[in-house]
Amino acid sequence: MRERRRLHVWGTVQGVGFRPFVYREAVALGLAGWVGNDGTGVVLEVEGFPDRLDALHRALLEASPPLALVEAVRTETVDPHGAVGFVIADSRAEGGTDVAVSADVAPCAACLREFADPADRRHRYPFINCTDCGPRYTIVQDVPYDRATTTMASFPMCAACQHEYDDPNSRRFHAQPNACPACGPRLRWLGDDEERSGADALDSAVACLVTGGIVAVKGVGGYHLACDAGNSSAVDRLRGRKRRDDKPFAVMVSDVESADALCLVDDAVAAALSSPRRPVVLAPKRVDAPVAPAVAPRLVELGVMLPSSPLHVLLLADCARPLVMTSGNVSDEPVAHDDDDALRRLAPLADGVLLHDRPIAVRADDSVVRATSTGRVQVVRRARGFVPQPVRLPVASPLPVLAVGAHLKSTIALARGGSAVVSHHLGDLDQWPAYAAFLQAVEHLTRIAHVAPAVVAHDLHPEYRSTAWARESGLPLLGVQHHHAHVASCLAEHRRASQVLGIAFDGLGFGCDGGLWGGEFLVADLVGFERVGQLAEVALPGGDSATREPWRMAVSWLHAAVGPRAAAEWGAGVDERSSSVLQLVAAGRQPRTSSAGRLFDAVAALLGVRASVSYEGQAAIELEALGRQAVDGAPAPVAEIRGGVLDPAPVVAALLADHRRGVPVTQLAAAFHVALADGTARLAQQLAGARELDTVVLTGGVFQNALLTDLVADRLRTAGLDVLLHAHVPPNDGGISLGQAAIAAARLDEGFH
Ligand code: ZN
Ligand code: ZN
Ligand code: FE
Repeated sequence: MRERRRLHVWGTVQGVGFRPFVYREAVALGLAGWVGNDGTGVVLEVEGFPDRLDALHRALLEASPPLALVEAVRTETVDPHGAVGFVIADSRAEGGTDVAVSADVAPCAACLREFADPADRRHRYPFINCTDCGPRYTIVQDVPYDRATTTMASFPMCAACQHEYDDPNSRRFHAQPNACPACGPRLRWLGDDEERSGADALDSAVACLVTGGIVAVKGVGGYHLACDAGNSSAVDRLRGRKRRDDKPFAVMVSDVESADALCLVDDAVAAALSSPRRPVVLAPKRVDAPVAPAVAPRLVELGVMLPSSPLHVLLLADCARPLVMTSGNVSDEPVAHDDDDALRRLAPLADGVLLHDRPIAVRADDSVVRATSTGRVQVVRRARGFVPQPVRLPVASPLPVLAVGAHLKSTIALARGGSAVVSHHLGDLDQWPAYAAFLQAVEHLTRIAHVAPAVVAHDLHPEYRSTAWARESGLPLLGVQHHHAHVASCLAEHRRASQVLGIAFDGLGFGCDGGLWGGEFLVADLVGFERVGQLAEVALPGGDSATREPWRMAVSWLHAAVGPRAAAEWGAGVDERSSSVLQLVAAGRQPRTSSAGRLFDAVAALLGVRASVSYEGQAAIELEALGRQAVDGAPAPVAEIRGGVLDPAPVVAALLADHRRGVPVTQLAAAFHVALADGTARLAQQLAGARELDTVVLTGGVFQNALLTDLVADRLRTAGLDVLLHAHVPPNDGGISLGQAAIAAARLDEGFH
């Protein structure tokens, strides 16, 4: 007895070869009917014997293409009508949606084989792709995902490409970005006074790079500035042109072996490098790594990545050396992705521009992950290759929620039903281009999801641009405390809704009391929280300038730890403004903060590591780098615990004394990490014990510090506690939007029952 069923498939099922996969399975099972994309995912109607229909259903769940992520399949029975044959139907644009387009994918092995084959028509074609690889998120302008709704719409396929696209047995069956040298995008080179195209363009770019030039290269999600990583004068020049920036540059290498020449590559690093997401992987730098010192000044780690597109494969092969590949921008601005914008902004920084005519629909920086010595991999910046892969929420949202995130390292998130999509890293909203990217992300994300937000979740900080946007949106608002959002982002990542002890250590976040929090111990679930512990508070002298100039925080901490005279004595040797800063601190009218990030700044300044910084977190990153060199067996001073307050003042005092005695800075940096980890774990045990909680969450930007994270987690696990760490979402403010979305979903859900 034949049956006909209609199946709705939800998840990451567009742009991943899902329809061709269904076609092949259905044909192999002798089923009739059709499959198509619609606004909510993939829909199919299949007709045949029930056991065959069941087999197809199982295949959808168990044998889907490598890039697909099936979240749910809903089946309804409809009347059979004697259909014969199976077809891929035209896309239908109807229906509200939480469709998930795939993230961008690095070239697959099959494409790379064709690419390397001189007899293949795509030999060395920089835009080769197939159903398993190629650009996705960065070329999608709308759903359903079809060529017409991507930036490939302006490239009509030649007969040969069209044939592949229409042939269910081809690797390029319905591969939307399918292209070849005859019909697809082309390279262009804009040099000083020459303009070239195709293979000549690539040759010019390579010639420029190998002779020490700086080249702006259009990649998948935006432009990079590239130069020879081993050429000191080229790297120095690039650093000079990018202005006031000590931020480390990422280095692109052709393969894992080449990465191993620069960094210690263990299994975790190798796996992260080779992932089709192609993130920048932070790994321990080899002392004799053949890269210029200015690539990553004063750091023991280096960011390395493998080529993320066929164009990068060519560049690396032809240059035959590691290349610096840093975001094409000036200082904190977002990476350029629009050609006119790029030429205007990057031409003055580069000796030439290598670009192509496939437009980028939405920018996406390189993602950054960190592989720690314990084999743990943590996402530090989530963008190309990860976005827009959805995160399943612990509690489904009854209404569509737009979460607008924080302010620095901004992201937004869109939650609907059981999942949330977190945008790519947008940058610091103080900068106009980052705010423009924020506005574009809101528009793009709601468009490709076909969702009109019903509620906006936002941070409590009244001066965040994201908060201001929320207020002006006219939509119902749901305010979420910053550190609660940090804890919730980690809970969401682990699909946990139950109560935990959350430790949120970060720079600064707006507290419920209007204070500047940043070293918090919260008993929290997804709905609410209670602040049960904190780091001791000290004065924050001079607001933003205290963040840029860590010596100010050192003065404040020394005032608290060893008193005004010793603080004055130390400050006099560091900055002539220290006496006025000390007066501010002593007067007691400055805002106070429990920030762990600012404590790191203070200690870094105290130990002479860094008196001022050129990017947020720089002092802490350098302090960690030093601490790692001496962490084994460093004797650590002991922080004091009074009630729920962890006071590191005795640690600060001991570090000052030891520093004066000439104890090496590496040892003191290590001792500080151990002391803070000891105190944090002791207080956490007390608080968790008192509330009978068995799980501790470590979150906030300070826990990007792998040394501190591993020290704290070890101690908690030894004490029998479960520890939840971030893996796929950054612990920093890039995760805030997800936390806001998860909290909003849980609160709305509670209101509904
Ligand atoms: Zn491929
Ligand atoms: Zn073609
Ligand atoms: Fe934060």
